[in-house]
Parts: sequence; C-alpha cells; structure tokens
Amino acid sequence: MNVMNSKAAILLIYTGGTIGMKEDPEDQALKPFDFSQILEEVPELGKFAFKVDAYTFSPLIDSSDVEPAFWVDLARLIHSRYDDYDGFVILHGTDTMAFSAAALSFMLDGLTKPVIFTGSQLPIGRPRTDGKENLVSAVEIASAKDENGHSIVPEVCICFDSLLFRGNRSTKADAENFNAFRSPDIAPLAEAGISIRYDRRLIRYPEDWNVGLTINTNLDTRVSILKIHPGITPQVVRNILLGAETRAVIIETYGSGNAISRDWFIDIVRQAVSMNKILVNVTQCLAGRVNMDIYATGKKLKESGVITGYDIRTESALAKLFVLMGKSQDNDWVKSMMEQDLKGEISR
Ligand code: ASP
Repeated sequence: MNVMNSKAAILLIYTGGTIGMKEDPEDQALKPFDFSQILEEVPELGKFAFKVDAYTFSPLIDSSDVEPAFWVDLARLIHSRYDDYDGFVILHGTDTMAFSAAALSFMLDGLTKPVIFTGSQLPIGRPRTDGKENLVSAVEIASAKDENGHSIVPEVCICFDSLLFRGNRSTKADAENFNAFRSPDIAPLAEAGISIRYDRRLIRYPEDWNVGLTINTNLDTRVSILKIHPGITPQVVRNILLGAETRAVIIETYGSGNAISRDWFIDIVRQAVSMNKILVNVTQCLAGRVNMDIYATGKKLKESGVITGYDIRTESALAKLFVLMGKSQDNDWVKSMMEQDLKGEISR
C-alpha cells in the first residue's frame, strides 16, 4: 500500500492535560505552556512535508474537568474547520480521554477524516517525555492517505505508546506507565514501529466518502452508573435506579452480566423498568461481554427488561446514551439503538 501525505494539512487542537505542561521554574508546579511555542518544544513537527496548524482551547483544562459542553465545542470546531483540513489531532489529558473519544465518535456522523486523540503521561518539557512520540505518531496517522487520496483511518481514535485504538473501545487502564490505554475487546487499529502498520480489516470505512459531516450537539446527560458490589444496600440501588433525574442507568455487573438475584434487587429493577427507564447491562470486567442467558442471576435481569450492552465499555455506553437520548425522547428507540453497533463500539 502506498501511504501518501505530502498534501495533507492537519489541525492540532490543544485542550490541556499533562502533555502541554512545563515546570514553572519558580514553584516547580506543572503549568500549561504557551502552545504557539509548540514547534520549539517539538521541532520534529516542522520536518513534516505538510502543514500543521495549531488551535488552543481557552481555558485550557485538566481533563478531569471535561464536561459535555466541552465535547460540543470540540465537535463544532471540527465541523467548522472540516473542509480546510485532512485530519485532526486533539491533545487532551489522559484521565477522561476515553470518554471524550467515545463521545466524539457518536457526535460526528459521516466522518471521513481522522480525529486522533493523544496526550502523555509525562509533560512534553521533560527529558523522558512520551508526549513527543505520541504527538508525532498521531500527526502522521492523521495525515495518512491511500492511493485514492482517502484517509487510512477515517475514525475517532486514541494514539498512545505506539498503538492506535478505536476511541469508543478504549479505556485508561494504567495510571503510571506509558502504555496508559487499552482496547481490551478489539486489537489496535495500527502499530507504530519503524513504519506505521495499519490493520485495514479492523478500520471502519464509509460507504459514501462524499456524505458530508454532520454533528449531534444535543446531549441528554440524565444517565447514572450503578456499580454492583457485595454489600450494596437497597437504599443506594433505589436512589440510583429510581432517581427522578435519571432517564437511563448503566448497571455495571459482575462477569458476564450477573447481579444480585435477591428479590429486593429485582423488585427495584422491575420498578425502574415500569417507570420507562433505560437500563443497560455492562460488565465490570476489563474484557469480555455480557450474556444474560448464562446464569440465573443474569436471566432475571433480562426478564425484568434490562438490555444488554454486549462488550461495550462504560465510557462508550455513557457517551452513546447521551447522544441517542439527545436525539429522541422515545426510550424504546434508544434501547433498540443501544443494542445496535453504530460506530464500531460493540461486537454482537
Ligand atoms: N490530570 C491530567 C489530565 O487528564 C492527566 C493527564 O493529562 O495525563 O488532564
């Protein structure tokens, strides 16, 4: 395959996070550096034969402060600059990167260009930083095109530690090491070694390259997450499942989708379903899928009206619910779409 990128133009969007921080010589605290100096910090960017423009978000945020309104700003920015660039690289803190990548994957419809999130565990100004390699690989991937001039990765992804993951399959799995991300249920879409090796069987390609980008900016955030654990009380379960402010609840269950089989628990679940709440079963395990037909405890949930999340990750289920619920008030429609693979987020 012939990988071309000589005519590409990339928009580098800096939102904050460790990658863009430098130690303040006065108090040694990590603070964001002026991103217009990015070429000074990463001169490698100047060696590409294509244009890399930079856009800085204001204010810069630690990604722990990410909110849905930030995703809307990001989606609008990409939409407004879509025709001017061949790909987008988003520098983002690692803590919520998987949430943001999943959200963008559902908010951007008709995507035919790469949107690659990256960041780092060590600030770019530190000698052993992983930020430079992550950034340069992300830019190269965002610019890669095939012999027809089509992007090789027209998806929302996370590029980290030489691997490219589908955004809505990813999770931050390591707080200390450079390999911070995993996509446990699907292999990486690419690996950066001496060359970048793309797995084109896994990458999703559009049926129509000219369909045009549209964005979903109406997000309904009335979602809660209920993590089942030994000792959880009826009061806690009731508060979360029956709360007036929740339209949907992600129930993080054990193993292949099992929860407490006691009557009190199933009664509350049934009550929530009768209130027309959307209950999605997602496994707490780091890999694997929900199958509510295996154990009696799972069967009870299914019979009560809980829907399966298959192998969706919690980050992705949350983002998918926000977008689908923002599109429609019809909870039956949302439930049926939750069980469909929309952006490569589940394997059925
Ligand atoms: N707290 C930082 C953030 O998520 C951590 C990082 O960037 O890795 O913004």
